Amino acid sequence: MPLPADPPAAQQSRPSRQQATRLDVDSLVARARSGEPRAVARLISLVENASPALREVMAALVPHAGRARIIGITGSPGVGKSTVTSALVGAYRGRGLRVGVLAVDPSSPFSGGALLGDRIRMQDHGLDPEVYVRSMASRGHLGGLSWTTPQALRVLDAAGCDVVLVETVGVGQSEVEVAGLADTTLVLLAPGMGDGVQAAKAGILEIGDVFVVNKADRDGADAAVRELRAMISLGDRSEAGLWRPPVVKATAVEAGDAGVAELIVDIDRHLAWLTSTGALRQRRIRRAGDEIEAIAIRALRTRMGELPRGATLDALATEVVDGRTDPYRAADQVLAALT
Ligand code: GDP
Repeated sequence: MPLPADPPAAQQSRPSRQQATRLDVDSLVARARSGEPRAVARLISLVENASPALREVMAALVPHAGRARIIGITGSPGVGKSTVTSALVGAYRGRGLRVGVLAVDPSSPFSGGALLGDRIRMQDHGLDPEVYVRSMASRGHLGGLSWTTPQALRVLDAAGCDVVLVETVGVGQSEVEVAGLADTTLVLLAPGMGDGVQAAKAGILEIGDVFVVNKADRDGADAAVRELRAMISLGDRSEAGLWRPPVVKATAVEAGDAGVAELIVDIDRHLAWLTSTGALRQRRIRRAGDEIEAIAIRALRTRMGELPRGATLDALATEVVDGRTDPYRAADQVLAALT
């Protein structure tokens, strides 16, 4: 997909299309790095649309990324993720930090502002140039989340965000998947709804670094905190040196809620733990590994669609059905044709 050229330079020298793309990527990246919101938006759209220019974009961004801390926010719909996100944005802005918010919806093919307008209560931050808010759909790309989210995060990171909050909008298993993409994962629950049990079932007990019992103004918050603490201490993370996830009570709808201040302190403690134990680097290496794997698998898939006659998936599948070969030998043939 050709990118709109930066008119002056591009028109004067009439470069080849490839050169034009190169110039545009450079200038887009430069503008994004200076924090220009439209350039950041454009780069994230390239990620969302799986643009071929991403190869170049990522090469240009990588040297400038790695500074932002990534905080994932997950939990069932309605538990208060958007409200907590907005409260955290306020708290980090209070520290003078530049904040990015990425709302990821792995279940939806749609993206854009309308969703965000509804979802994230950002009225308080809408005019603040130091806050960048964006939603992103992964459009059913194969392994979509594992490469689209880190790439969008890399854009925000290189654009100078000190903190990026990643919020999942979709429901289901993807919540767990998204958690793997953050340095610190907050798991939100609310009193009632048997949430503690739900958490255990969904496997989110294992992925939470900090648990938040939101809507603490409602009955049952203390019971939910107790239940969660008990469940966490039953887990196998209580050995010395391991992180013991704290459980924080919050009422995110209330401005100046003390719970949010406590939450920030716990997030800081978690970062300090991650850094001092080397776990931060390990997490980031694992994430980069997932991203590489997803890119490689996607490339393999594409090449499988371009296999020579006789080795196409259809041809081989027909042979298996007719009993002329078996699926393992067929797979060997596919791999041999790809290498
Ligand atoms: P999300 O779907 O997880 O993002 O949840 P939202 O942030 O959209 O919140 C869902 C609803 O719960 C909204 O109506 C919020 O105003 C409300 N809510 C959020 N936090 C609290 C809280 O601490 N107490 C109460 N009573 N309501 C809250």
